[in-house]
Amino acid sequence: MALVGVLALQGSFNEHIAALRRLGVKGVEIRKPEQLHNVASLIIPGGESTTMAKLAEYHNLFPALRDFVKMGKPVWGTCAGLIFLANNATGQKTGGQELVGGLDCTVHRNFFGSQIQSFEAEIPAPELSSKVGGPETFRGVFIRAPAILEVGPEVQVLADYPARSNKDLDANSAVEDQEGKTGSEDRVIIAVRQGNLLGTAFHPELTADTRWHSYFLKMIGEVGEGSSSSVVAVGAD
Ligand code: GLN
Repeated sequence: MALVGVLALQGSFNEHIAALRRLGVKGVEIRKPEQLHNVASLIIPGGESTTMAKLAEYHNLFPALRDFVKMGKPVWGTCAGLIFLANNATGQKTGGQELVGGLDCTVHRNFFGSQIQSFEAEIPAPELSSKVGGPETFRGVFIRAPAILEVGPEVQVLADYPARSNKDLDANSAVEDQEGKTGSEDRVIIAVRQGNLLGTAFHPELTADTRWHSYFLKMIGEVGEGSSSSVVAVGAD
């Protein structure tokens, strides 16, 4: 069975492992730096990025995670995991928050508001369907979700979303703090790829649609061509 590491400090790692299992891939829980040697790719799940950062610091994971990214191994960050992968994070309580970095973008934490403003939406993603088939849209689950406000030239945008389309946002929300940056016509980026890195602001592991996981597995195959970095095949578990 193929193997993909899943950072298992906090958040929705079990759901990612279940989604991988549905695709015949084994998700390996990663909690310690040395465990990263056993996998050639990694998913950093959603959860709470400041808490996850504290746990990662406690387990001395940041140097190993940064090396993993720099070695060109495929890494997918979802929601809080996307924040981890970003070179810059803005928004509430980001001061001093340690990031893994590597993804050339600026992420705004809690961009779409707080827990009660979480929402689902049907979102077009032509690149997703052209790579793994299925409908031209996917169901995006946004839970205290971040948005990507800026990307560097190497970053491919896979999906975006209207900045103010969640009508229930209240006056205190992060969107209102944008000071005119996000007018009603504006869109923010919610899915990106940069070489070996994939970042999504939503939670595909909380839906029955495994196409984003398939997309990542295909990416692993692409990045692995010509290098030893691929989904490692092991015996039956
Ligand atoms: N807002 C959270 C954070 O900043 C992320 C939310 C999520 O992963 N669902 O960490």
